Amino acid sequence: MGDVEAIVIGAGCGGLSAGALLASQGRRVLVLEQSDAVGGCASSFQREGYTFDVGASVFEVLESLRRTLAALGTTLQDELSLIPCDPTVAVALRDGQRITFPASPGGIVEALAAVSVEDARNWGRYAAYCADLYEVLLDTVYSQPVSTLADLLRILRRRPRMVRYLPSFLTSYQALLARHFTDRAQQCFAFQALTMGLPPELLPGIYAFLPYGQLQGPWYPRGGMIRIPKALQRVGERHGMTLQLRTPVRKVLVERQRAIGVVLADGTEVRSDVVVSILNAKTLYQQLIGADHLPGIVRRGVRSYRYDNALPVVFLGGRPDTAAGGASHLPGAHPGGDQPLVAGPRAAAHPTPAVRNARLADLQRSLARPRREACADRAAGRHLPWRRLGRPQGPVHH
Ligand SMILES: Cc1cc2nc3c(=O)[nH]c(=O)nc-3n(C[C@H](O)[C@H](O)[C@H](O)COP(=O)(O)OP(=O)(O)OC[C@H]3O[C@@H](n4cnc5c(N)ncnc54)[C@H](O)[C@@H]3O)c2cc1C
Repeated sequence: MGDVEAIVIGAGCGGLSAGALLASQGRRVLVLEQSDAVGGCASSFQREGYTFDVGASVFEVLESLRRTLAALGTTLQDELSLIPCDPTVAVALRDGQRITFPASPGGIVEALAAVSVEDARNWGRYAAYCADLYEVLLDTVYSQPVSTLADLLRILRRRPRMVRYLPSFLTSYQALLARHFTDRAQQCFAFQALTMGLPPELLPGIYAFLPYGQLQGPWYPRGGMIRIPKALQRVGERHGMTLQLRTPVRKVLVERQRAIGVVLADGTEVRSDVVVSILNAKTLYQQLIGADHLPGIVRRGVRSYRYDNALPVVFLGGRPDTAAGGASHLPGAHPGGDQPLVAGPRAAAHPTPAVRNARLADLQRSLARPRREACADRAAGRHLPWRRLGRPQGPVHH
């Protein structure tokens, strides 16, 4: 294997986007993926006629992918067939009230009115806040690195509106939602925080747009979530990007505090001007780069991170007329019957099993074979005895 101009470690959506964009700038790019499929957390696999999504199960705000594809000279319509999910979410409150949210602004307000008239009135103000926040994030921290204070100042100079949202980095998701909604509506919106792996009181306030993004109407790519990374792979390859599966990276080569290449699991060295990694900081800095190459403050910071929130997933295939198969897309329902997924605005203190059904509400457009539906049963919670369950691994592809 010859040396290249850019190496990307990991072929999830992040790595493939980076690889495709670098290739579109005319660089020789090599994307290295340890498993035998692209997609990482947004991958899918097939087993006995069912298609299962490994992790991500809906595609919420389209704008980020739309912009990435535009930068790559193509469009969402050309690369993906997207099916709207409507209704979007069904939740059960502590008192047993169930609310189903349709995917229209009017429908959301109507559904919220059943929770509280005050919350329905406040939706418009919250939606306007989130629409602006999301646009500013896309133009700033979502599309440019903020590694230093100088980076942040540069962004603020270019996009002064970002200043308005800086305080939300310092507050919590729960506190920000509490500015707009009563306790009852917060119960409806608490579980979205768990999708980021944290309970509402610990998740930064900047994620307060999650319920807005979800209720606006999620989409599902026909053929499974893997169609999204597959699209990025296809477009990247059109620009000359090379992807190599079953190629774990064991080490990042560092010289005078600069990454100069990687060492593969079989010992092969590949040199490159640029090394991009989307692996989590602890794995990247401690295992692939090595603590010796880090300044003391970074070494201590990375050491202080904890792996958390193990997420065992059981994939079940069932017929649509069974209890699991009969649930509509993304229900907040779970085997506990009418118990809410989260106990009020705070996440449940104990593991919370959640059933998320990969089937779409509209059977005619279901992705599974007729009479065969798929659902993933996830246990989400910070207090799982994951040491007994084994260390969390990367996504498993069967
Ligand atoms: C359970 C779950 C549910 C989610 N649900 C949603 C959802 O419904 N909607 C949504 O928008 N988002 C959802 N997300 C988030 C979304 O899936 C992720 O943010 C996104 O897929 C992350 O992409 P990534 O490329 O950054 O990382 P990953 O997808 O984690 O990709 C990392 C890749 O790197 C590879 N890799 C790791 N180590 C090495 C190595 N040493 N050498 C080579 N390759 C390596 C891995 O195999 C993997 O393919 C969910 C995430 C999870 C876990």
